[in-house]
Amino acid sequence: MPTQAKQQSQSISGFEPYVETAGEEYMGKPMREHFTKILNKWKQDLMQEVDRTVDHMKDEAANFPDPADRASQEEEFSLELRARDRERKLIKKIDKTLQLIEDEEYGWCESCGVEIGIRRLEARPTADMCVDCKTLAEIKEKQVGK
Ligand SMILES: [Zn+2]
Repeated sequence: MPTQAKQQSQSISGFEPYVETAGEEYMGKPMREHFTKILNKWKQDLMQEVDRTVDHMKDEAANFPDPADRASQEEEFSLELRARDRERKLIKKIDKTLQLIEDEEYGWCESCGVEIGIRRLEARPTADMCVDCKTLAEIKEKQVGK
C-alpha cells in the first residue's frame, strides 16, 4: 500500500486554536496545557504511523516470491524506512519540547529570547526559534551547505 506511506503525517489534527483571554499571561498554565495536549496528540499519531508501517512491512515481505517484485518492494521499504526515521527524530524533538513545557521554558526563541507566539507554535509546535532567527539560521545553513 504505497499510497498510505505517502500520506502527510506531519499535520496535527483534532485541536481547536487557542483562544486567549484578555491580558492573559503568555505561556501561563492554560497555554502550557494546550500545547502539551497538541504535542501528545501529535506524538501519538506519529507512533501509530511507525507501528503501522512496521506491521505492514512484515505482512508484505513474505508476499512477493518474484525477485523483481521483491526489488521494487525493497526500494519502497527503504523509502518508508527513511520516512519513519524522520518521524522517530520528530518524536524525539516532541519529547524535548514537552520537557521544555514542563520546565516552563517553552515558547521563547532560544536564540534571541523573544516570544515565539501562539499562532506560530500552533502551526509548528516544536518551533524553538522566532521567525526572524529561524529565517536567519536557514540562510546560514544554506551558505554552509554550498
Ligand atoms: Zn529569535
